[in-house]
Amino acid sequence: VSRPDFGCATCWPEAAEAAWTAQTRLSTEHQLVDESHFRVTLRRCVTCSQVFLKIFTESVDFTHGEDPQYWTIIPLTAEEATGLIEAPEPPSEAALGAIGPGRRSLRRDYPSGGSLTCAWNTGVGLLVHD
Ligand SMILES: [Zn+2]
Repeated sequence: VSRPDFGCATCWPEAAEAAWTAQTRLSTEHQLVDESHFRVTLRRCVTCSQVFLKIFTESVDFTHGEDPQYWTIIPLTAEEATGLIEAPEPPSEAALGAIGPGRRSLRRDYPSGGSLTCAWNTGVGLLVHD
C-alpha cells in the first residue's frame, strides 16, 4: 500500500524527538479550538508548505494533582486543511479523531506521575479531555 509522503526533512524528520523539536518551530497559522484543556491549531512548514494539525488535550487528575497532557501532530492533505479552515463551526473531537487513519502521526504523552514520551503513532484516535 503506497501512501502519500507528507512534509520534508525540516518539518517531519525521521526521529520522533527531532520531529517534535522541528514542529515547535512552526508558526501557528490557524487556531481552530482554544479551550484550557483542548487546543487545536494548524501550522505550516515554510520550507515545503505542508500543513500540520496539532491537538493538545489535558485531563484533570484530582488524585495526583498533575494533569496528564497529550499532544498529537498529523500532516493534512490540502483538502483536509481547507475543510477545517472553512468550516463554520470548530471541529468536534469525533471529526478530528477520524482524520488520517493509518497516516503517521506524532504523539507526545505526559501522563500524570509518568514520564514524558514522544513516539510515532498513526492517525489521531480517541480524544479525551476535561
Ligand atoms: Zn516541511
